[in-house]
Amino acid sequence: MFSKEELNFRIQINSLIDKFLPKNWQKYPDERLDEDWELSKKIKKELAKNNWIAPSWPKKYGGLDHNISSSIILSEIFAYRMSPGNDRFGVRMIGPTLLKYGSEYQKEKYLNEITSGEVQWCQGYSEPNSGSDLASVSTKGDYDEEKDEITINGTKVWTTLGHRADRMFILVRTLQNSKRHEGLSLVILDMSDPGIKVNPIKNVSGSSSFNEIVLTNVKTSGKNIVGKLHEGWMVALDLLNFERSGIDYIGWAERCLDDLEKYCKDIDILSRDHIKITISSLRANLESAKIMTYKALWIKTKDEKIHMEPSMSKLLATEINIKIHDFAFEILSKNATIKDNNHDDFASRILKNRFFFISGGILGGTTEIQKNIIAQRGLGLSK
Ligand SMILES: Cc1cc2nc3c(=O)[nH]c(=O)nc-3n(C[C@H](O)[C@H](O)[C@H](O)COP(=O)(O)OP(=O)(O)OC[C@H]3O[C@@H](n4cnc5c(N)ncnc54)[C@H](O)[C@@H]3O)c2cc1C
Repeated sequence: MFSKEELNFRIQINSLIDKFLPKNWQKYPDERLDEDWELSKKIKKELAKNNWIAPSWPKKYGGLDHNISSSIILSEIFAYRMSPGNDRFGVRMIGPTLLKYGSEYQKEKYLNEITSGEVQWCQGYSEPNSGSDLASVSTKGDYDEEKDEITINGTKVWTTLGHRADRMFILVRTLQNSKRHEGLSLVILDMSDPGIKVNPIKNVSGSSSFNEIVLTNVKTSGKNIVGKLHEGWMVALDLLNFERSGIDYIGWAERCLDDLEKYCKDIDILSRDHIKITISSLRANLESAKIMTYKALWIKTKDEKIHMEPSMSKLLATEINIKIHDFAFEILSKNATIKDNNHDDFASRILKNRFFFISGGILGGTTEIQKNIIAQRGLGLSK
């Protein structure tokens, strides 16, 4: 499926990760932790030296003019290796959106920043009263035509890495009293702009991955509106489709399944029928989810329409990831012992991530919302 050059690229990316990732790295990247954040910055810098951060982007924006396969390979390996350094918000979300809708000023400035590996982005979509129903966003953006400037007031919430970010793409209502999907604009903000306050939200374990972002009279130039003023809805939806076609869940699921198979072999239970059959069936499901994700990514490079495949791939990838972790959990709960030193790291990884992956069915649009999209936009069923 991949060409010789692409397979060679796979080897090069793996070698780069080998150089930085500690041996026996046994956890998923968590860039809110200082250690992972520092590692992420180092790896991004190294990728940038070779124009590898976004290899499918044009050379003039720091890419390599490769086709989408190189970007798929990169993200899949980073997920499989569980390595920090794969930029979700910049490379996967706002970058392709700017390539499609951005002005030359925006492409020149922001895409080159992303491929330099030195700038972190965050996503300002959700609000305290606006999650699944994104069209109800109420953060206000007042556009002053004379000054060509927008003044923004409102609150965003659940902003992942908001406390690390240099830039934010944000959905605001620029036409007040407009109907839901109308009068919205997608705008780029510099997180150091006066009036932006980042409040970390602590989760039950005491650490914070999310933030509340309060915006008070934040001013930004009209040059930072992506697409047309008041016509940001379709741009924002397209960005979500880039988000939903991520391959990370597939890479994580495959790694878990490979490690589980090895664990079963090590403790001599792989030949049991129930285990053999379940692992084979999970692998078949994983392959079909992977192919759907490749298709969703490829389709997005082909035409302008908003498709249902990104929602299908998100749904399948989220579900198979949970199923594999559930089976690993089942096996470990029957076989792991407290003093099982050889498998300690694997067992604690599974336990921790089984809980974390619940969030896969929420972030980027919940499972129910993906099903609605497939039914209505994809299959043409009525609401
Ligand atoms: C790990 C994680 C990271 C996130 N990072 C970000 C981020 O960086 N930036 C950002 O902007 N947001 C982020 N979010 C927020 C995320 O986008 C929202 O949580 C999500 O869109 C759901 O919105 P909500 O939480 O308000 O739930 P609600 O919209 O209140 O939904 C509650 C329940 O109702 C169901 N529901 C709602 N509407 C319908 C409907 N029409 N049909 C059927 N069922 C429905 C939902 O499926 C869900 O089960 C993140 C969330 C998580 C979990």
